[in-house]
This record gives sequence, structure tokens and C-alpha cells, in this order.
Amino acid sequence: MGKRFDILMFPDFKAKAFTLSYDDGVVQDKRLVKIFDEAGVKCTFNLGYGVLGYKSQGGPFDISKVEKEEVAELYKNHEVGGHGLYHSVLDTLGEPYAMYEIVEDKAQLEKLCGKPLRMFAYPFGLFSDEVKRILRSAGYKGARTVRSTYGFDLPKDPYELDPTCHHNDERLMELAEQFVKSPSFKPQLFYVWGHAYEFDKDDNWDRIEKFVAYMAENKEGIWFATNGQILAYLEAYKMLEYSVDGSLIYNPTATDIYLLTAFGNRELLKAGTLTRIKETPL
Ligand SMILES: [Zn+2]
Repeated sequence: MGKRFDILMFPDFKAKAFTLSYDDGVVQDKRLVKIFDEAGVKCTFNLGYGVLGYKSQGGPFDISKVEKEEVAELYKNHEVGGHGLYHSVLDTLGEPYAMYEIVEDKAQLEKLCGKPLRMFAYPFGLFSDEVKRILRSAGYKGARTVRSTYGFDLPKDPYELDPTCHHNDERLMELAEQFVKSPSFKPQLFYVWGHAYEFDKDDNWDRIEKFVAYMAENKEGIWFATNGQILAYLEAYKMLEYSVDGSLIYNPTATDIYLLTAFGNRELLKAGTLTRIKETPL
């Protein structure tokens, strides 16, 4: 039986997860964090350490960045991810400089945040196998692209995390409704990304307010989590150890894992414990 035919559930037996990912550490993140906190949703904010504190020199809209000193406090309810030191085009930069962009950004942001960084977002959405390899070596657990899937499947490759859509996508609310209302026979992930300066540029702050308010009103059965929390959970699931007949599952991780068995029973596999599955058909 080996891996059995169980279905992974998210914490508290939720079948769905919702996450956000916003790039560049722009000053508009301050307003966005307030909106997210009010709704209780969770976001990964991807920052380039080298451009923190940058002041916009005019232009049609402000793309100034938050100050280094503001980072830890501003994003404390969320997750800080890497975005390359100077937002360079990593796939054609050459390996030595790409390494520097990735590793130095991570090292400096970790000093600011006081913890290891888990997530990365590709500047301009550009990457290569080489860049993926560098991220892995640097200790990143996953990285976001800018390719919309318009779907809710769990990621196959954590270093090519394709979001469901951008917040300006005309299908955003339609997808939100579909996600909320769809029956949940398997774990699903709704993953939205963007840049906070776009709300100034497009004068549409109400768009994100309405969207996250809708998610908050329909939060039953949905896990609001950062990108990194979701990846860590999926990683812990992969580490479960099964007896040959499938009746014993050992969870060697520090994370409680929630399963729905093939018989429709809920099983909570507590962190660091062995669970004997008592399988009784419904
Ligand atoms: Zn960017």
C-alpha cells in the first residue's frame, strides 16, 4: 500500500489555501499591509536589499522603496522573500554576478529580518536552470514566476511557482468565486501576485480591498498563509514515513500534518509522532 491513497489537507483539515505575493518593497506596501492585516490574509513581500531606501525621481507614479529600518516591523505579520539585490536580469547576467545578486540579497535581508529567507521572486519573471540551481544552493525553498495558471493546482516544481493570476487580471473576481465555491476533493491553492505601486498607477486600490474582503468573508475552509508556510507544509508532508501495509505513519517533522484517508476519515498526524491508522469504511 505504501503511500496509501490519502488526500493531503491543509492545517485544521482545510482543503484550500490562499496566498499573496507582492514585489519590490515599494512604499505603497505600507497601505497594502494595512489592507491585508484588516482582512487577515497573508502575503510574501519580495524585496531587493540593494534598492531599499531608493527615492523616486519624479515620474508618473512613485516607485520609492521602503527604508531598511522599516522592513522588520512593516512586514512582521507576513513573510519577507528575496528579489535579487538590484533587481537584475538573472538569466543572462552570468553565473558569478547572478550568485552575488541572489546570495548577498538573502544574507542582508536575513540580517534585517532575523531569520532565514525561504522564498524568492524572479525579477521580471526571468529564470533559467542555472538560476534555479543557485537559489537552491543559497537555501531558498521556492521561487515565484509571473506566469498565470488560472488554476488552483498545487505546484509541481517549487522553483517555478506559477501564480493563479495577477491582481489586475480581468478574471480575478471570477477566479475568487470559483475558488470559494468549488467543491474541495483535493487540496487547492489560490495564488495572486502584483506590485503595490500599481494601485497608485492604476488608481484602483478598491480592487484589492474588495478582493481580499471577499476572501475574508468566505474564509471558512481556507488557510490564509504566506508562500513559505505553504511550501514548508508541503515539504513536511513529503517527509512522512509509511509502513509497508500503510497502517503506520510516522511524522518526523515539527509540523502537524492533516490527512483525509481514502475511507473519508480525518487523520491528524502530530509532529514527531507515530500514528496507527484505524481504517473503517464509511
Ligand atoms: Zn520586481
